[in-house]
Amino acid sequence: MLYYSTRGLAEPVDFIQACLSGLATDGGLYVPEAWPSITPARPGEGYVSVATRILSAFAGDSISSDIIEDLCTKAYGNFAHQSVAPLVQTGPDQFIMELHHGPTLAFKDIAMQIIAQLYEHVLSERGQRLSVICATSGDTGGAAAAAFAGKKTVDLFILHPHLRVSPVQRLFMTTTGADNIHNFSLDSDFDTCQAIVKAMFADKPFAESIALSGVNSINWARIAAQSVYFATAQAALGPERPIRFIVPSGNMGDALAGYVAGKCGLLVDFDGVCAVNENKTLETVFNTGEMSKRNAVETPSPAMDISVPSNFERLLFEVSGRDPEIVRSVYNQYLQSGHAALPEAAFAALKKSGLSSFAVSNSNTCQEMRDHLAETGALICPHTAVGTKINRQAGGDDRTRVVLSTAHAAKFPETVEEATSEIIGLPGRCQTLRDRGEVFDQVSPEYSAVKAAIQAKLGLASA
Ligand SMILES: *Cc1c(COP(=O)(O)O)cnc(C)c1O
Repeated sequence: MLYYSTRGLAEPVDFIQACLSGLATDGGLYVPEAWPSITPARPGEGYVSVATRILSAFAGDSISSDIIEDLCTKAYGNFAHQSVAPLVQTGPDQFIMELHHGPTLAFKDIAMQIIAQLYEHVLSERGQRLSVICATSGDTGGAAAAAFAGKKTVDLFILHPHLRVSPVQRLFMTTTGADNIHNFSLDSDFDTCQAIVKAMFADKPFAESIALSGVNSINWARIAAQSVYFATAQAALGPERPIRFIVPSGNMGDALAGYVAGKCGLLVDFDGVCAVNENKTLETVFNTGEMSKRNAVETPSPAMDISVPSNFERLLFEVSGRDPEIVRSVYNQYLQSGHAALPEAAFAALKKSGLSSFAVSNSNTCQEMRDHLAETGALICPHTAVGTKINRQAGGDDRTRVVLSTAHAAKFPETVEEATSEIIGLPGRCQTLRDRGEVFDQVSPEYSAVKAAIQAKLGLASA
C-alpha cells in the first residue's frame, strides 16, 4: 500500500514512512493510494482484533499482522475499560461512545498509544532514534507524553502555551517522570507554538540534525487508528443499523476517520456530523463551499478552538476526484488571500460525502452540560456537550445516533463547575497526578530559543 500526497508533488511512500514523516515534503497530507476493502467488525469481536485487521490493511506489506496484533495488545492493554470505546445508551436510539478511558482521559490516547508502539517497533528494528515534536493546546501533548514516556527510541518535545492549558491537562504532560519527555512552556498562544513547529520542519539542516518527526493531527496513523471505533460501534449496534455519528471536531481528524471507515466498507453507510464550537470554519465550508481565514476565538471547548481544520484537505482531495491540482490551487489561493471557494463540482461532491457540520454557541454549550446532567445524571466534558447539543437539535430521522465523547468531564473540572456547579474529581487511576512533581522549562516564544533548548536537552552544541 502506497501513500500519496494530497498536493501531488511528493514521492509516494509506504505506511511506515507516511507515519514517521507526518506532512509530505510538498506540504500535502498523505492518503492511501486506494481504499482497502475491510470486512466489517463482527458483533462481539474484540477491540484489538478489529484494530489489528484495520491497521494491517493500511500497513500493507510494511509490517506483518502478527506484529501489529502484538503492538495493539500493548497499546490497548492499559485502558481502564476493556472494550476501549464502550457505548452508553442515553435515550431511545441514542448513545454516547466513550473515548476517554485511556491514560490521559481523552480520545487522543487511542491513536497516540498505538503510534508510540509503532515508532518504538520500527525504530528499534532500524537502530534509529528520533526527536518527535508537538505543539499542543492541551490534549495532544498529554496523550503523547503518556504514550512515549520511557520509550528508548524517541525524545519527545512538547510546546504548550504557558498558563493557557487547563491545570489537569498540564499535569498529564509534565508529571511522567520520564527523561525522554521534554516540556517547554511558551509565554504565547497555541498558534505561536504551532508556527515554531512548522518553522522547525522548514529548517531542513536543523530538522535533519536532530532527526525530527511529528505526531500532530495530520499523521495518517492517527486517522487509521481512529477509524477502528467507528467499526466497533457499528458491530455493537447491529451490522444492518444505519448510524449517524456526531463528532466534536477541531482539526477534523476524528470525523475524517469515520469517513474513512465508511470508504473501507466498515459501516452500513457513513453519516457524520462535525460538531463545532464558535470556531465554525467547517460549518461555513459545508454550507457555502467557501473557506475564509479567521482567528481562533476562545470557547469552553479549547481542544476545538481551531481556525484552519487541517484534515479538511484530505476530504477536499476526495471530493475533487483525487485531483491534487485542485487541492493545490484551493490551498494556494487560501494562503495568498485568506479566502478560497471550492470548485462547483467539488462542493457538490462535498454535499454528498455523508459529512455535514453544525456549530454550537458558548452559552448553549454550558446550558447543554446542565441539561445533559438533569436528564441522565451524568457529567460530560464541554467538547462532548457540543456534540450532544447538536444531537438534541437534529430533527427526527430514523438513524441511530452516536455522539462521540472525546474527553472525560474530570479533565475540565473548572468548566464543569462553572456550568453545573458540580465538583468533579479525577478518577481513581489518576489520583496520584497531583502529587507527582511537575517538570517543565519556560522557554521564550521564539524559534531560536526553542531550537537552543532542544539542542541543550540533546546535548548538542548550538550551531
Ligand atoms: C482533539 C480534540 C477534539 C477534536 O478532534 P479533531 O480530531 O481535531 O477534530 C475534540 N475533543 C477533544 C477533547 C479533543 O482533545
